Amino acid sequence: MSIKSEQVERSIKNKAMGAYYLAHEFGHTYYRIPDQYEHGGACLMNSAYEDMAVLVGYKKLIESDKACQQCEPWVTLKHEIEELKSIFKSSEADLSHVERMLTLIAESPTFILGRDYFLSLALNFPFRYYESIGDELGLFYCVALAKNNRMSHFLEWHVDKIKKIEKE
Ligand SMILES: [Zn+2]
Ligand SMILES: [Zn+2]
Repeated sequence: MSIKSEQVERSIKNKAMGAYYLAHEFGHTYYRIPDQYEHGGACLMNSAYEDMAVLVGYKKLIESDKACQQCEPWVTLKHEIEELKSIFKSSEADLSHVERMLTLIAESPTFILGRDYFLSLALNFPFRYYESIGDELGLFYCVALAKNNRMSHFLEWHVDKIKKIEKE
């Protein structure tokens, strides 16, 4: 094998590892997008059996320069939630931000993998907000929303507070 062909092969391997394999795993951990079997080869989250080899998947992926439209709801949701989380941290939050966060949670796609945990994290912020301003109605609203959406993580985290709110 010549040096030249070895270099070409390595650079393709590196791209395939970074642009395909690592980016795919990032899609799982950061955006919480599950493996997709019907989005086609142009989808980074494509996990169709015939495309499982990294180089095969990578070649199909770079044939298209557009992001997968069917994965868009996860990306939008994550970005909006992250934006709101930073607003809550900056203490500039007001009721309009709480409303936006709660609407986002209520309307989010139900097909999200790890939805319960992900949305529990998001609902934590409005819950803390209502707690800090002593708004009991707001707390009831958060708890009711969590129960309607069976967000068990959220309910587990705040089980003592919820018991206290419901007793009063
Ligand atoms: Zn995967
Ligand atoms: Zn996709």
